[in-house]
Amino acid sequence: MKRTLIKDLNQHIGEQVTIQGWLHTLRDQKNMQFLIMRDRTGLVQVAHYKKGDLDLAETISGLGTESALRLTGKVIENEIVKLGGLEIQLEDLLIENAAEIPLPFEPFGEYLPEQDFRLDWRFLDLRRQINQLIFEVQTTAVQAMREFWLQKGFIEIHSPKIMGTPSESGAELFSLPYFDTTAYLAQSPQFYKQMAMAAGFERVFEFGPVFRADPSFTSRHMTEFTGVDMEISWIDSHEDVMATMERWLAYTTQSVIEKHDEAIAATLGHHLEVPAVPFPRITMAEAHQLLNEIGYKLPFEKKFDLDPGAERALGAHFKETQGHDYVYVTDWPFEARPFYHMLHPNAPGLTRSFDLLGKGLEIATGAQREHRYEVLKAQALEKGLSLEVIQGYLNYFRYGTPPHGGFGFGLSRFMMVLLDLPNIREAVYIFRGPTRLTP
Ligand code: ATP
Repeated sequence: MKRTLIKDLNQHIGEQVTIQGWLHTLRDQKNMQFLIMRDRTGLVQVAHYKKGDLDLAETISGLGTESALRLTGKVIENEIVKLGGLEIQLEDLLIENAAEIPLPFEPFGEYLPEQDFRLDWRFLDLRRQINQLIFEVQTTAVQAMREFWLQKGFIEIHSPKIMGTPSESGAELFSLPYFDTTAYLAQSPQFYKQMAMAAGFERVFEFGPVFRADPSFTSRHMTEFTGVDMEISWIDSHEDVMATMERWLAYTTQSVIEKHDEAIAATLGHHLEVPAVPFPRITMAEAHQLLNEIGYKLPFEKKFDLDPGAERALGAHFKETQGHDYVYVTDWPFEARPFYHMLHPNAPGLTRSFDLLGKGLEIATGAQREHRYEVLKAQALEKGLSLEVIQGYLNYFRYGTPPHGGFGFGLSRFMMVLLDLPNIREAVYIFRGPTRLTP
């Protein structure tokens, strides 16, 4: 059996074809039955004259929408048909898998049930056009991210996610029994990508799962997400990391536009724009001054940190004043950063680090890392860490490790920003949260 995709039917007018797909809608009339069929490439109308085959007519009448069908018939031009002026005249039908009636919900119905219910039936929810588009776009974006790095001689790594010691702080850590000891799920590939710098790989990236035992129920947090990480050697400062990153994001967005502009406009009603580089940069101290000026009051006393409201206010400000969706907030205080972020030589207490905000949402954190063994040990002690516990990591900095830096980036956060999705649950294939371990 040779399958014809719906998008290619116009090349088969007058021919007999077989299509495979889902019954999108059924119009069962007195003399005629119209099956609107859907495959991943589009919709087509299939017509059946009831009196031509009464048994078949009865079978069709009993079909539930979303049934998986194989249909054979002749393609004809029919000007009255709204779907591309084509119609298939049904000759044969095979029910591959009938959809039970009723469906838990109608993915193409007028009203969608609440999100949690849709997540319970995620495979049905994913049949919606917007969801197919999100993951087609993500596929293109990930390919473009890889392409950009491969063109620049990066090496892709796959680091372990089961670890003997925490990869970041002791907070938000999942532990699990591991034979006669306890293991931890990786909170980031941080130590391993730095190990690649000690190994002389010079430029690496990784796409992989990241686990955070964060009990919060926000629209942007998951307990498991896909992290996109990179690390590069021989940098002068965090500026080199930011400069690479913004070109990488512009390239990625450009690739998405080239492939999906029409579909995005048709489904979401707007066009994407390639962000201009360089992205605006603002230091944390300047950000606080700016927030003061625009009248945003932080809900805490901490001198240098941002809450989600402040991030949104900064995002809106840069959109209004510079037309930019992205902004780097740089030079975070050491107290707000992990021990391995390098301090500014001339500004004690401040790190060579940044967060990237996209439309007012944090999507990445990066920094130059401290690669000098003695300084790194002192910083770890200042944070109250046990050197013994992290000695394996500290050893990377004893035998010739170049200056380096990189970033960690949340793939689903980026998809939220790129496609204006209001909630990370809509941006990820399958959501994991404190109370959701299924599907
Ligand atoms: P946040 O302050 O939003 O909780 P974080 O500072 O803990 O994030 P990092 O540890 O810097 O985040 O992680 C790097 C990137 O990974 C973040 O910028 C974000 O894009 C993504 N990320 C972090 N935590 C989560 C999470 N729980 N769910 C989804 N993505 C996340």
